[in-house]
Amino acid sequence: MSMHPMKKMKKPKAQVQVDLRDAETIKCSSCDNYLFITSFILKRLSAIVSPNGQEALIPVQVYSCGNCGQVAEGFLEGSGLEEEKNTDSFPSLDI
Ligand SMILES: [Zn+2]
Repeated sequence: MSMHPMKKMKKPKAQVQVDLRDAETIKCSSCDNYLFITSFILKRLSAIVSPNGQEALIPVQVYSCGNCGQVAEGFLEGSGLEEEKNTDSFPSLDI
């Protein structure tokens, strides 16, 4: 460890104390597993609808069940992969 800090440490802002015991543990809706791994859905944005006129590959990070691979509920919303719903809303993606 260097004894010459480059910058002065800023005082941390007041943090909200959260008791995780009060927070809901998200479990896989298929197998009740509660350990998730990060996965990416890859969306190819065609040049026609791309803001810069060029085809773009857009990774959408989701959490999938480490046991059965089921994507956690709510993470597919707006990805175009949700179950046969007709949505008129397009996901807003910052490129
Ligand atoms: Zn599962």
